Amino acid sequence: MTPRDKDCIFCKIVAGAIPCAKVFETEHCLAFLDIAPVHPGHVLVMPKGHYATLMDIPAELGADLTATLSRVGKAVMEATAADGLNLMQNNFEAAGQVVHHAHFHLIPRHAGDGLTLWPQSGYESSDEMSGLAKIIAGLLK
Ligand code: AMP
Ligand code: ZN
Repeated sequence: MTPRDKDCIFCKIVAGAIPCAKVFETEHCLAFLDIAPVHPGHVLVMPKGHYATLMDIPAELGADLTATLSRVGKAVMEATAADGLNLMQNNFEAAGQVVHHAHFHLIPRHAGDGLTLWPQSGYESSDEMSGLAKIIAGLLK
């Protein structure tokens, strides 16, 4: 059964209790315009089921989600005559997640639009980098 959270605004959108500017849906996914866009045409794609973060989304939904992101992304770029497209996804408040129903942002970008992404840094040493790679890889065994 598809999980729902009665207090979740995105579950209310899925249920039709709150309106949205829907652009596309599949059996498991819904795509609609973000109400406060970075640029017009900014779309949110999400599983219809309530999963709090990316890590909670069942792997079986992966094919539907990625196909939807690709299909909607193409349409967003065409509709907005965009030169580029960002796929963004926030997990937990520390990373900027405000709505705790996992969702993906498709943001059309225009050459010279002046938006910058997060700053990048480096590692103190190659040991620090390889050590962290080993820890993450170990957790994936
Ligand atoms: P995040 O920070 O990744 O949790 O993003 C939540 C996004 O949901 C924000 O970009 C909001 O503008 C958007 N949002 C919140 N409520 C609605 C709504 N009712 N309809 C469309 N977008 C919404
Ligand atoms: Zn929800």
